[in-house]
Amino acid sequence: MARTGTPGARLTVLSGPSGVGKGSVVAEIRRHHPSVWLSVSVTTRKPRPGETDGVEYHFASEEEFTALVAEGKLLEHAEFAGHHYGTPREPVERQLAAGLPALLEIELQGARQVREAMPQAQFVFLAPPTWDELVRRLTGRGTEDDETIRRRLDAGLVELASEKEFDVVIVNDRVEHAAKQLVELL
Ligand code: 5GP
Repeated sequence: MARTGTPGARLTVLSGPSGVGKGSVVAEIRRHHPSVWLSVSVTTRKPRPGETDGVEYHFASEEEFTALVAEGKLLEHAEFAGHHYGTPREPVERQLAAGLPALLEIELQGARQVREAMPQAQFVFLAPPTWDELVRRLTGRGTEDDETIRRRLDAGLVELASEKEFDVVIVNDRVEHAAKQLVELL
């Protein structure tokens, strides 16, 4: 179908506070919408139980990450809660060049870098139903220590205030519902 104003292939960037459930929405998309192409980020944090190198993330050392940045191989990158995260540039560019949509799930600083580099992308903010619900989700995950949770909540407060920078807001009341809304936007 012809569209006016936008190229056929579109980059969509999903962002929102840590703990809002971006990971769950993306996991739901992997399970139930396998045709959606998702960027696999590089991170220096250690894998959580159940995470596989090359699936949820490419797990890298600080040295490897620094080299990727120096070589210009990351489309964007940011430090979040003491670790580095970045989006490999080449796979995203290949996907878009082939005329196919691509989805990135990244935090706010990275989303802002992508907006600088690719202003025509679509920016989607995943919002928690309430702040209390966000705190409950972050503390209830059980995979992080108190210091990590505190750092993530601090980042979450800043990230919540950025909602107005985004083109679309999806409230993550139910994961399946949020995932469906996101897929419809791609
Ligand atoms: P987690 O450690 O919980 O998997 O991710 C922590 C935060 O890093 C989340 O907000 C997630 O969206 C973000 N993140 C994951 N990959 C990337 C990336 O490639 N770039 C940026 N800027 N943030 C990322």
